[in-house]
Amino acid sequence: MIGAPCAIGLGGNVGDVTAAFRAALAALDRTDGVRVMAVSSVYRTAPIGGPDQDDYLNAAALLACGLDPVALLAALQVLEADAGRVRDERWGPRTLDLDLLWWDDRPITAPGLEVPHPRLHERRFALAPLVEVAPRAKAPDGTPYAELLRALPEDGVARLGPASLVYDPA
Ligand code: ATP
Ligand code: CA
Ligand code: CA
Repeated sequence: MIGAPCAIGLGGNVGDVTAAFRAALAALDRTDGVRVMAVSSVYRTAPIGGPDQDDYLNAAALLACGLDPVALLAALQVLEADAGRVRDERWGPRTLDLDLLWWDDRPITAPGLEVPHPRLHERRFALAPLVEVAPRAKAPDGTPYAELLRALPEDGVARLGPASLVYDPA
């Protein structure tokens, strides 16, 4: 694998979300220094926090990343904008949300970036797909994310379908 193993979370609840995931994953794989190594199942998730809004779709992807983490986040934010994302209300509805969830079992802190994602450990909709694509990933304290996932309540997150809904490797 060329570059660091890392994982992103994908989410959205406005418009054709599977099409937005498909476009973002294809664009990431075309980005210099980034390869998409694996994509999770797609999950349907009841919204948490924010206003009354539609259910989300969520997934995760394992990347091999030769960019530094801040440059990867900038690339993710360009893809969110390409998907027509408008930032207004916190945790409000959006066409596409791309979060940097995990980076090679290491913590990273930079202006505007905290990895692992600060709410990863408490979110089934992020942990379930992460553990599919990176089953041995660990939190910085050494706890496997698979173990943190098992400790979470079951509610609100259902597997909708396979990775092929949103990604077909060329
Ligand atoms: P949440 O962070 O709870 O999932 P959100 O995804 O809706 O909420 P955004 O509005 O997309 O939040 O992002 C807010 C800010 O979070 C971004 O401007 C970004 O700089 C910052 N941020 C910090 N760490 C991360 C990370 N690991 N991945 C993505 N964004 C991050
Ligand atoms: Ca998010
Ligand atoms: Ca985000």
